[in-house]
Amino acid sequence: CGIVGYIGRRDVAPLLLEGLQRLEYRGYDSAGLVITSPKSAGLRMVKAKGRVRDLEARVPRRFAGTTGIAHTRWATHGAPSDENAHPHLSQDGRVALVHNGIIDNAAELRTRLEAEGVVFASETDTEVLTHLIARSGAESLEEKVGQALKSVEGTYGIAVMHADFNDRIVVARNGSPVVLGIGEKEMFVASDVAALIAHTRQIVTLDDGEMATLKADDFRTYTTEGSTTTATPTTVEWEA
Ligand code: GLU
Repeated sequence: CGIVGYIGRRDVAPLLLEGLQRLEYRGYDSAGLVITSPKSAGLRMVKAKGRVRDLEARVPRRFAGTTGIAHTRWATHGAPSDENAHPHLSQDGRVALVHNGIIDNAAELRTRLEAEGVVFASETDTEVLTHLIARSGAESLEEKVGQALKSVEGTYGIAVMHADFNDRIVVARNGSPVVLGIGEKEMFVASDVAALIAHTRQIVTLDDGEMATLKADDFRTYTTEGSTTTATPTTVEWEA
């Protein structure tokens, strides 16, 4: 239902929680976030059924990071619960993903992955994507995500983090909005401009079939096949 992400130099958890709060008007049943930092060897995740304040109550006192993605969920596959809340992790805990939309062929993909020995942690359609990305033999995170997306049918706005590529967030869009917010030595991503507007007015709207890589100092957009697309930020006017 709602996505917020940040990569930069600021303390990320408060930024993500604030962004999620700005998306509350959309309605949701659970929320979650995952963070990392350039020095950290892994990802740290917190999820909660309920409101953003229920999630906030679970965030540990020491929860430092400068990169993160967050989600408010409107359940379509699997009841509202802590386990079904996004982000979803791969089995080795190194890939984290948030998703808006519906993966139509999730049941098929799940059966295939389970036959290959994958153990699922949730009942969501979303989780197949985390395992597909984690199992991709492609070298870069961009190619892993692109390859995984080739096997799914349905709608998605996604944001992906990988512990082995923790200098970036990779996002993709097909039928579910994704906007990038371009800052000074920091980048934002969201499913709705409302979550970004307090931080930047420089916005890039992704098209269907488009992906993007966000790093603290730059961003680029490209197709699922990897060919570069042009993305010129536009300045949005907004009455607070
Ligand atoms: N289909 C996904 C789920 O049920 C995503 C729902 C959403 O867009 O929030 O978990």
